[in-house]
Formats: sequence, C-alpha cells, structure tokens
Amino acid sequence: MTLKIADIPGHEGFAAPVLPGGELARSSTAFTRTFVGYQAACSCGWADRRRFAATPEGAKEAEGRWWSKHAAPLLAAAPPSWLVIKSNLLCEQIVNLTADRPLAALTLLSQVESWQRTLLDQAVAAAREGGASWADVGEAMGITKQAAHERFRAQVAT
Ligand SMILES: [Zn+2]
Repeated sequence: MTLKIADIPGHEGFAAPVLPGGELARSSTAFTRTFVGYQAACSCGWADRRRFAATPEGAKEAEGRWWSKHAAPLLAAAPPSWLVIKSNLLCEQIVNLTADRPLAALTLLSQVESWQRTLLDQAVAAAREGGASWADVGEAMGITKQAAHERFRAQVAT
C-alpha cells in the first residue's frame, strides 16, 4: 500500500520491509525474501530510521511515521494547489501586460512588490513564532538557512 497526498506530488510513502542485512526493500510489494521489520520510506528517497515489527501492525506504525515525520512537515510548507494556480495565472497575465503596456505593468509590479515584502516579513515572523527553525524557513523559500537568517533577522525578533 502506498500513501499519497495531492499537495505534495512526488512523495509516495510506504512501509518498507527491512531485509536481514539491514537494507530496505524499494517498495512494500517488491520483496519475496524473509524480512525482519518495517521502516517508513518514501519514493523521493527519504527513509525513517526507526524500525517496527514485521507484522501488519508494524507496517501500520511505519506508515504513520511517514505521515508524521515526512509528509506533515512537507505539507506545512506546501501552498494549496488552487493558490499556486492563481499565482501562476497572475504571473502569466503580468507577462502579457508587460508586452502590451509596459508602463501599466510597472505600476502593478511596484504595488505587488510593496505588499509582497510586507507579507514575506509577516510570514517569516509567523513561521518563527510557530516554532519553525531558520532551516525550515530557508527550505520553504528555496534558500539556505544562513541566507534566510541574514535576510530576515533584523525584521523578525528571534
Ligand atoms: Zn518523500
């Protein structure tokens, strides 16, 4: 059985059978040999270290770990897909506006820039208050932990 969530494509979780040598089988159904337990794993290459019993209950527990240790943190950083679609549409429309009426695009883009900066500071502050580390903030923005800290430490009380 694989576990999937629409907002984090590319991540399919499963309880990976642990082979006697300690390595993990690549899917929940790809084994025929004896196995000694289950560990949570994901199609992206992530694997949990905690091992559970080689029983159906152990498999359920491993699946629970995929959710709590891997999927839930990813989901917390994944914008809802409907909003991503709106954001992409806005970008495309501004590209078109730039081609047709560049001065109107400039007016709009400077408005976007002013609220975007404010919203970014607010989102960083809210994430930090909610317990996110600088590494979490950096990962959500696609930048390093150091870059996130240097860019926002002045605006966000730490
Ligand atoms: Zn994954």
